[in-house]
Amino acid sequence: MPERTETQSRRLLRRLRDTLAEPGAGQERLDRITHLIADSMRTEVCSIYLFRDPDTLELCATQGLRKEAVHKTRMRLGEGLVGRVARTAQPINTANAPQERGFRYMPETGEEIYSSFLGVPIQRLGERLGVLVVQSKEARQYSEDEVYALEVVAMVLAEMTELGAFVGEGEAMGARHKRPVTFRGVCGQEGAAEGHVWLHEPRVVITNPFADDPKAEIARLGKAMEELRLSVDDILATAEGATAEQREVLEAYRMFAYSKGWVRRMEADIARGLSAEAAVEKEQSAARARMEQAPDPYLRDRLHDLDDISNRLLRLLTGQGRNTGATLPENPILVARNIGPGELLEYGRALRGVVLEEGSVGSHAAIVARALAIPLVINAERITTEALNGDPILVDGDQGIVHLRPEESVASAFRDKIAMAAKAQERYASIRDLPAQALCGTVVSLHMNAGLMADLPSLPSSGAEGVGLFRTELQFLIRNQVPKRGELAALYARVMDAARGKRVVFRTLDIGSDKVLPYMKRPDEPNPALGWRAIRVGLDKPGVMRMQLQALIRAAAGRPLSVMFPFIAEVDEFFAARQQMLDEIERERRLGHVLPERVEIGAMLETPSLAFAPDRFFEAADFISVGGNDLKQFFFAADRENELVRRRYDMLSTSYLSFLDRIVRRCAAAGTPLSFCGEDAGRPIEAVALAAMGFRMLSMRPASIGPVKHVLRRVNLEEARAVIESARQAGDTSARPRLMEWLKSAF
Ligand code: PEP
Ligand code: MG
Repeated sequence: MPERTETQSRRLLRRLRDTLAEPGAGQERLDRITHLIADSMRTEVCSIYLFRDPDTLELCATQGLRKEAVHKTRMRLGEGLVGRVARTAQPINTANAPQERGFRYMPETGEEIYSSFLGVPIQRLGERLGVLVVQSKEARQYSEDEVYALEVVAMVLAEMTELGAFVGEGEAMGARHKRPVTFRGVCGQEGAAEGHVWLHEPRVVITNPFADDPKAEIARLGKAMEELRLSVDDILATAEGATAEQREVLEAYRMFAYSKGWVRRMEADIARGLSAEAAVEKEQSAARARMEQAPDPYLRDRLHDLDDISNRLLRLLTGQGRNTGATLPENPILVARNIGPGELLEYGRALRGVVLEEGSVGSHAAIVARALAIPLVINAERITTEALNGDPILVDGDQGIVHLRPEESVASAFRDKIAMAAKAQERYASIRDLPAQALCGTVVSLHMNAGLMADLPSLPSSGAEGVGLFRTELQFLIRNQVPKRGELAALYARVMDAARGKRVVFRTLDIGSDKVLPYMKRPDEPNPALGWRAIRVGLDKPGVMRMQLQALIRAAAGRPLSVMFPFIAEVDEFFAARQQMLDEIERERRLGHVLPERVEIGAMLETPSLAFAPDRFFEAADFISVGGNDLKQFFFAADRENELVRRRYDMLSTSYLSFLDRIVRRCAAAGTPLSFCGEDAGRPIEAVALAAMGFRMLSMRPASIGPVKHVLRRVNLEEARAVIESARQAGDTSARPRLMEWLKSAF
């Protein structure tokens, strides 16, 4: 880099800093800045365009173009050269602008006489804020160093915009992070909540983008890099049980932490006048812009890793990030890129809602949010860039929509929705102690699903008769290591204590597929949902399951115990698992422990194959519970976690209902109690259909018990059955339309 340019860009930045330090309104500042850039770069024109809304740029200040055009000239994203810079986030450098593709003549600016054009994006961490342009009459190509110098200035402008330095008249100069924004994501857990943003990892704010002493800044960067390398080495050294994918990410971290190119680029930025933090952010912004353009998913992932590691480096440099000392706002709604289940549990029920930029319906965080019954929206793109701590926010988990800093009219409509839901809850509370008895006299027993100690307080308030499914893997998922037998026994005992004699069905560890324990080595599988999971792991590597069964037996100590095994596909698997349980009871007896009063051993029917098992399976199982989430995914061959296909098939499909009919009949023939514990059990119409098909026990989320009971008490199940039969006979794909029609008349 030539010394002359280096000093030129440093001199430019110094002048910029002095200008920004002077008092003045946003407009005055921008005017002064365009003047000084044109002067320093010896161009006739310098203009700043800022986004007015996500699709429109507005000329906000200029030196050289007609002043009357300021706040009047607008262009859409992609329109003209300025719009192209904004869209591609890449500089345009041309000696002959009028001949450049996409050039648009704007008479109000008087710009036709300018030949050369250099435009660079004003962006902060991939967020596009505007475009900075210089133009001159002389037909010249700007040098690489001039492009670089303008980019550095644009970066400082972005930083200062973020800090509110240019707030002024006109929408494009309205205070950023004040406008209402709506995000359309995906529903992770239903429910609605109003509250204030709590950022899991608050954004790092750079207060000084200028390097007063480049040598000292380079030394600061060097020290932070050293710390970064140590921490990455540390993570790698302790990541023994990591999956191949996690390892790949960690290796990428290490590669970046030791990358000479990355450090060299940041040092060059500092030499040109940026502070160490600003240099990290400049490179991070560039990486984010590349990330958006990268067609190759592998490259995108790696750029994502660079983004993560840059955040770590920024936190090391500024000491900001977590633990900022801020206190949780009222009705906190957690906003994060992603969050681990353990961290989410630490917040626990203090949260009113959760919004994630990433995540999937089946992710552990989603499982925990569901267990905590907190509304959750996932895939809310860019929310962490837009939201600030304390911002008002509305989360609509039903629709997967989030309103950040909502207009009053939106907020009040939303409040009506919450109030209606609360009223409905009141109505449900009034029938809490009544049975779910249908008009035909049939009583359906309603139970709740649980997985955490925190779920148990819902047992009396929901009106559930017991816990129909206790997902024991949550306790494993939220820890860093396999829990000890004593710990588990104490926990299960507390669960039974809290249930006060009501039945709790413990499902043994269901890991694999989407539920991966970070500390357990697992083989890489081409299709984990069809792979080594649940009972398959329990039978092949019986150590953990045996320990868990012992813990359950000890926890029961004189009380009745119900245990079921997940994902049984063949009769022999059930018998082998059952034998393990019997062996453990015998062992505990020999050791002199108090045995459970009685033990029920059941199976989950989650694969179609089990519906065709020999009679001896149905006769030997003490009870059978249909895991509808898995059963449906295998019946329709549609991944329950894949947004593209997840909703494609309906539980009320006549083929599926015929299949359930078969299961009901086989259980009835063997006299085996049957329940249904997938998510569908908690949806009122589906619940009516299940009851009509003969299910007498349904297990669901506690919040669903009220709505389901309310509907069941108002319908005649024999009529419902007749409606389903008519749909089957008519050859309908789904019984839903007829059921809906009939329900309308029933209410
Ligand atoms: C199911 O598959 O329906 C079920 C209840 O288990 P899980 O959702 O935990 O797989
Ligand atoms: Mg399942």
